Amino acid sequence: MARRIRNSWWARFTFNGITHCERGTYALVGGEAGGFCAAVELSDSERDELLALCRQRLDDFREQRGVEVFAHRSRHRTPISGSINYRVLTRARGRCECCGAHEHQRALEVAPIVPRNQGGSDDLSNLQALCFRCNAGKRDTDSTDFRGLQASYALREAGCVFCALEGSGRVLLENELALCIADAYPVTPGHSLVIPRRHGANGLALHQPEWNAVVELLKQRREQLSAADASISGWNVGLNSGEAAGQTVFHAHWHLIPRRRGDCAQPKGGGVRGVIPSQQRY
Ligand SMILES: [Zn+2]
Ligand SMILES: [Zn+2]
Repeated sequence: MARRIRNSWWARFTFNGITHCERGTYALVGGEAGGFCAAVELSDSERDELLALCRQRLDDFREQRGVEVFAHRSRHRTPISGSINYRVLTRARGRCECCGAHEHQRALEVAPIVPRNQGGSDDLSNLQALCFRCNAGKRDTDSTDFRGLQASYALREAGCVFCALEGSGRVLLENELALCIADAYPVTPGHSLVIPRRHGANGLALHQPEWNAVVELLKQRREQLSAADASISGWNVGLNSGEAAGQTVFHAHWHLIPRRRGDCAQPKGGGVRGVIPSQQRY
């Protein structure tokens, strides 16, 4: 696929002495290439050649002027050792510790929590994984501890029946942030619960990675039940959030209820509208 390089980039390359321009044709200063025209689409190989030449020129430039030339752009991004980098990214499970974006959505960067210019160290305890967008929004003056958010995933409450599920033998499916069990008092056969691991009453206040984890298990459980029972022809998915909404266990959980033709006398009235019986029919 051909790609186009924006005119403003050429102008910047030229300003920085990487390319020069002659009658609308740009060529690398000192490069072997005959010249690239700004108005044409570049093929992948031409693009690679251009990038390689740019890198070469940048390396030469750095060597000439010393690495300090880019220091203003990387005040909190000076190289962190590869193995520490890896450990921070592994600990974050490939997600931005601020917004939860996955590394496949937005590239992750390892950044200090307490900025270096405020005495922050390169120790593992002072590093976090942020997507480029969150990292760009985080200024040197900000020392918000996103690890607090990360640590909150570990919250469990003594005496909570759902917090006690881990390792109980009742778990049917699980991922890093959520698990799935069979409902102890099924409304229909197969009625299952999907529960975030983190203790919290409010199912609408999940962190984005938890929403993803819950949705993932709802899908997996649905597939499992569908494969095992051909009579299932519909589903109700529900969250009771708050006492007024009928929540009885104050650790958020989603109900996944398989439905079958004829499982209630009036199918049209059997859906989630039924939470207020007088409003069920319309
Ligand atoms: Zn982010
Ligand atoms: Zn709990």
